[in-house]
Parts: sequence; structure tokens; C-alpha cells
Amino acid sequence: MQPDIEIARAASTIPVLEIGARLGIPAAEMIPYGHDKAKIRLDYLHSLADRPQGKLVLVTAMSPTPAGEGKTTVAIGLADALNRVGHNASVCLREPSLGPCFGLKGGAAGGGYAQVVPMEDINLHFTGDMHAIGAAHNLLAAMIDNYVHWGNEIRIDLRKVTWRRVVDINDRQLRQIVTGVGGPANGYPMEGGFDITVASEVMAIFCLSRSLAELQQRLGRIVIGYTRGGEPVTAEQVQAAGAMTALLKDALAPNLAQTLENNPAFIHGGPFANIAHGCNSVIATEAALRLSDIVVTEAGFGADLGAEKFFDIKCRKSGLRPDAAVIVATVRALKMHGGVPRGELEAENVAAVEEGLANLGRHIRNIGQYGVPAVVALNHFDSDTDAEIQAVREYTARSGVDTQVCRYWAQGSAGGEELAHAVAALASSGAAQFRTLYDDAQPLWDKARTIARSIYGADDIAADQKIRDRFRQYEAEGYGHFPICMAKTQYSFSTDPQLLGAPDKHTVVIRDLALAAGAEFLVAICGDIMRMPGLPRKPAANGIFVNAQGQIEGLF
Ligand code: ADP
Ligand code: MG
Repeated sequence: MQPDIEIARAASTIPVLEIGARLGIPAAEMIPYGHDKAKIRLDYLHSLADRPQGKLVLVTAMSPTPAGEGKTTVAIGLADALNRVGHNASVCLREPSLGPCFGLKGGAAGGGYAQVVPMEDINLHFTGDMHAIGAAHNLLAAMIDNYVHWGNEIRIDLRKVTWRRVVDINDRQLRQIVTGVGGPANGYPMEGGFDITVASEVMAIFCLSRSLAELQQRLGRIVIGYTRGGEPVTAEQVQAAGAMTALLKDALAPNLAQTLENNPAFIHGGPFANIAHGCNSVIATEAALRLSDIVVTEAGFGADLGAEKFFDIKCRKSGLRPDAAVIVATVRALKMHGGVPRGELEAENVAAVEEGLANLGRHIRNIGQYGVPAVVALNHFDSDTDAEIQAVREYTARSGVDTQVCRYWAQGSAGGEELAHAVAALASSGAAQFRTLYDDAQPLWDKARTIARSIYGADDIAADQKIRDRFRQYEAEGYGHFPICMAKTQYSFSTDPQLLGAPDKHTVVIRDLALAAGAEFLVAICGDIMRMPGLPRKPAANGIFVNAQGQIEGLF
């Protein structure tokens, strides 16, 4: 196989206005960024509000391992395969962050013959949304400091400003800093720090807002810190929400690009999947649903995090109703969950696959709790054997779920027509009876406990009295109806990344609770969650360069 970038470069793309035309979008309703990227005007999308929606298919996965699962690859390949067998399908993905591009090798625009293009642009600056979000975030930071500098009338407590700064580069050096040093002309010395842009609450808000008006309201509700009297201070109190929205006005229009097989790809918004909800914007998903018969979308990490938040945060807040779920599994990951070390994944080991299936089994059961019918997509790797694949088929059949092998990475859409047929049939079967896991009215502590017990297989949750008090405090402050956004390791159902398979009898310890008042959720932090990754010893950036033809090399 050629490297992803060479496959992407050899793609015969068609003008993005033609991709839009196939969706029925008049050229005047698109804002082209060159020939192969465009934004779709928000006014036009609002005019589609009365149109029926297509079927919504969520691509999620078993618990990830370093072996790689391939959700994005399967989502793209599945959308291509659905088109191949005669459906009018689109894919909806997150916008990649620059951080991982230059850090650990690994694409965010699919892989092999299932990619979205132009992949260099999508992975690097694309249409500039990420920069706009960073600018809006940092404008608020500057306005808070400026408010303090010019008198601080509401007496913001300098020690309790929680709003940090962001940059879309992995830069561990900036995690904790002191700002405002150098004397009175330079502001007040304060502790500060940077998160990566995708960890910004602005990103989460951006992805959950359905209009500019809603975006502006939510931005205004961001809590940036506390006064000396302990009262929360909002972005609106430093009069920042309007200017932040102005910076985001163009970015909020969803982006259209295409797959290698010239099918529509909506790529818009990309929040973290731990401290935020980890899926593309509601605006893009709704747009795709009004313009296509079937929409395939991806949620980050495994189903315990990604699908749970897709259902309990994104769908709850937006009214989206998923029709089917695709659970991506690989023989390699099953073997790792069955105890095989990373270096030995190539060798056939049916017993380990059988052992690891407990992990997949719990994810299957979990999706069932949401009333969404599921199919397992076994993403085929060269080393998979027939006996291993058979073991997966037999196991899932016992749970009443079909397994379809797909080879989209190696073959593009031709590598999985059966999966496309199975997904289309499931999505149009009317079997879905979507429900969220818990009700808005449940106490916050119960919500977290429900997730831990029903999804993670935990006995209970636990927290210090100080944190328990915060649950009650947020209820008293009027945030009790918010959903909980769990931030925990993606590698295990438990909070211990080493506990693979389907651990039970474990306790989920909540170490911190953070308010995202604009995004409208509370983040329960379980374990060490990285808001600003660092670069590895040999970052991917070391191998990236521009060749004599002016083309980018080394990007995956
Ligand atoms: P996820 O969305 O689950 O993080 P991706 O789809 O981004 O996963 O895939 C992760 C990496 O694995 C990518 O580099 C991709 O090219 C590669 N990959 C995916 N499927 C296969 C496959 N069947 N064989 C080989 N490599 C694959
Ligand atoms: Mg992905």
C-alpha cells in the first residue's frame, strides 16, 4: 500500500461546487475556499428547516488500543459504500487538530483508500475554523485581564480566574505559566496556562450551537472565574460574547469537502472527547441530514465515551435521533484485550480473540441501552485469519448482532458492500427507539453513577467530600439539569488504563468537577486528563517537509 498522502494526492477530485450541486445546494449558497473546500451559508441551511431528515448512523468502536481501530476510516468507507450501492449518503467528521499531526503519527482524515480530501488542507489549516476558535477564546482571556487592569469593578478574584489561553500546537512548556510580569504597565501578575484549542469550551459551544444567536448566548454564559465574594463571573460580564461571536461568524458555517470517491464529506468542529463531547458540530450533522438520505458520523474514542456523549450530550441537546450504530472492532484490538502484547499481534490466536470479545460484548450491550440497533464492522487487517473472524461472528451472533467484515482501507468502497446493505437496512428498519441513559431531572451525582454502573460496569462512584459538595453547589446554582461529561481514560471501561477487557467490581473515583456553563454540561474528571499534550521524543513533525514540487511530504 502507498502512504496515505500519496493515495490522497493521486485522487481525482471534482470541484466542490459539483459536490454541493449533487446535494442540491445552489452555487450561490456556497462560499468556496479554493476549488475543493467550501462553506455552506447558514441562511440557506436555516431555509431547509422544514425538510425531512435522512437516517443518522453513528460509527463508534470497542475500547481503543494502540493497535488502532479505524473509526474514521470505516465511517468514510461506509459512506462511499452506501453511495456505491445506490444511496445518497454523506459523512460527517470532526476537523483535525494540528497537535496530533505533528505529534504521534496517525491521520485524522481516514486512511488508505478511505480518506477525505484535500487531506493536507483538512489536516493543516483547512478553512481556518480552528484559528477562529482559538482567537475567540484568547480574545476573552485578554478581555478578562484588561478588565482587571482598568479597575476590576466587580472584583474578579485574580487567584480564581479559571479561563486559560489556547493554541493548536502540542506545547507542554505552556501548561503552567505566569502572566503579567514586568511591572504595572504590563497588567497584574497572575497564574495562567495554555490548553490545546480543541479543549476550549468555545469549541464545545461551537459544536452544540444551532445558530449564531445561540452561539452568542452560550458564549456569554461561559463562567471565567469567581469574584472575591465567591460569585461566578461570566463572559457577558466582561462584555466579550459579541466580539467573540463576530470572530466565529464565518467559521460557524459548515465545511464541505469530498471523499476519495467524490462523495460529500461535512467536516466541521472538533472538540476533545474527554473533557468535551467529541463529535462534529450539530450544524453540520443537521445540514447533512437535510441534504442526504443517510448520514454517517463518528464519535471519538470507544463507545463508553464517544457514543455515550454523542447520545447523552449531542443528541439530548439537539434533538437528533440516531437510527443505527456501527461498532468498529479489529481482531488486533480484540487480541490485545485478550492479553496479547503489542509485538505479538500478527500471530493467529483465536483463544485471545475469544477472551477479548468481552470488551466488544459490553459495548454492544451498552448501545442497546439507548434503543439504537447496532451492527459490528470488523475492520480487516492483513494479519486477520478466517478462524479469528469466525470467532467474532459467532460471538456477536449470540448477542443478536450481525458482524460484517470491511476492507475499506485496502479497497475503498468495494471492500464492504455487505456492511453498507446491512447498515441501510438497519437504519430504515424503524427498529430504533432512541432514549437517553438518564433524565435531565435526575440529581447530578445519580447521573454520573448511572453512567458508571450502566456503561462502565462499575459498582459505584466515589469522591472526596469536597467534590461531593461541588455536585450540590452546582445544583444550587441552577446547573442541576445539565448532563455529565465524563473525562476518563479511553483505554478501559474503568479508570485504570491497564484494565482491559470488560472489568467489573471497580469504583470510578471522581477527582474533580468542572463547569462548562456555555456548553451546558459538567465535566466529571476521573484520572489524569491532558488538556495540553506534549510532543513525543521523535515527533512526526521531524519527518514533514515540502518537496521540490512544493508538495507536503511526511504527513502520515
Ligand atoms: P480512529 O478514527 O478510530 O482513531 P482511524 O480511522 O483514524 O482510527 O485509523 C487509525 C490509523 O489506522 C490510520 O492511520 C489508518 O490509516 C489506519 N488503519 C485503519 N484501518 C486500517 C486497516 N484495515 N489496515 C491498516 N491500517 C488501517
Ligand atoms: Mg477518528
